[in-house]
Amino acid sequence: MLRTHTCGELRGSDAGKKVALCGWVETHRIQGKLSFIMLRDRYGITQVFVNPEITKKLGEIRRETVIQAKGEVKKRPENQVKKELVTGEVELSASEVNILSKAAPLPLELSENVASTEDVRLKYRYLDLRRPKMVKSMTLRHKAIQFIREYLDKKGFLEITTPILTKSTPEGARDYLVPSRIHQGKFYALPQSPQQYKQLLMVAGMDRYFQIAPCFRDEDARADRCPGEFYQLDIEMSFVEQEDILNLVEELFIEMIKKIFPDKKISQVPFPRINHADAKAKYGSDKPDMRKDKNDKDELAFCWVLNFPLFVKQTQEDFFHGAGQEWGPSHHMFTAPKEEDIPLLDKEPGKAKSYQHDLVLNGFEVGGGSIRIHDAAVQAKIFDLIGFTEQQKKEFAHLLEAFSYGVPPHGGIAPGIDRLLMVISGADSIREMIAFPKDKSARDPVMDAPSEVTDEQLDELGIKVKGKGK
Ligand code: ASP
Repeated sequence: MLRTHTCGELRGSDAGKKVALCGWVETHRIQGKLSFIMLRDRYGITQVFVNPEITKKLGEIRRETVIQAKGEVKKRPENQVKKELVTGEVELSASEVNILSKAAPLPLELSENVASTEDVRLKYRYLDLRRPKMVKSMTLRHKAIQFIREYLDKKGFLEITTPILTKSTPEGARDYLVPSRIHQGKFYALPQSPQQYKQLLMVAGMDRYFQIAPCFRDEDARADRCPGEFYQLDIEMSFVEQEDILNLVEELFIEMIKKIFPDKKISQVPFPRINHADAKAKYGSDKPDMRKDKNDKDELAFCWVLNFPLFVKQTQEDFFHGAGQEWGPSHHMFTAPKEEDIPLLDKEPGKAKSYQHDLVLNGFEVGGGSIRIHDAAVQAKIFDLIGFTEQQKKEFAHLLEAFSYGVPPHGGIAPGIDRLLMVISGADSIREMIAFPKDKSARDPVMDAPSEVTDEQLDELGIKVKGKGK
């Protein structure tokens, strides 16, 4: 190893040890003949004392240059302890400083006190991620996901990955399409969610499934929505009632917040439950913000919204892609109607209620799911009601066929990981929780995607682009 310790590790008790540190030069302060380097990595900052001989040899080191410093750990006198640093009791007295890689002047200022525009931050995300604030948000994300995995593993869930190149699940958004070379003129779609696969896994007997699932939806950006892709904690369970799903998710998040976000306070446990109609009437929203004090940055007010209508009228603003002109599913087309409302489907479908459940936190929808239809006849009726053509129905033949071979009653949910963590940690935008987010116009500013491809690539796919470059 080029280093014996990280830059956040050394303490007073390490005094006298010979160590090697590696990191980025946050500052190099020359004082007369000697100098001080503040050396940073993702764990912290350690001061390196550089004697006159080495200072002379090095000259001034440019910020963000990567170096290795070897030497002895020295305890600082009591009155010189740097309280703001966890390593403040010590410094490294360097006997050797090696430049590992020189840094050019940076296109953005990394200091937390200097604001950079988001465009610049996203273009140079790999630099932006060096900031302690971003290190913190990546670390929290990792810990939360790690917690979820362990928790669900203990409860007997299997993590199963499902295909990325697939046929789309119509979940209301526009699809991303991927042309096939081998089957020219045909397209894969990137999954809007693994909805059909997780239901097929229930048919397969994998009665408790989860996945940290990437989902792709061609939608416009919002503060709480990244265009392009996002991650869901996708869950599906067999032989359950709605209550079981709510309880599992509720306990999981309560425990996760206790462990990973100990400063946060959940306002009400168990999470209050509201009928969809009551939420609309009382709060004018199906995502009510139930915080007692909206200025309290540590308050987390969860609630469940239940008893949604099965269908909503299609409107320009809220158009369910894939459905006909009249009705769209309020959730998606696999959500089960309440048994007692099945007769309404023939007469007044707009009045039928469903087993949809939404998890809301501080006014944001952080997860949705439902008990699913497991009766092929009801499923076929729903397809009719949302105006599926014969062709569209055929596209789901595999699901109905699967259901004919013994399907357990099942249901699930899929909390959005990026959005949930944004709300819990009080970040201004969902992009703060994502290492390399798309920008507001759905571009990846680091890689500069989407980008043009060569004519050869298009020829292989049998594709001709109409308005190229427009
Ligand atoms: N697939 C659904 C969604 O992404 C969630 C679910 O029904 O489990 O909203």
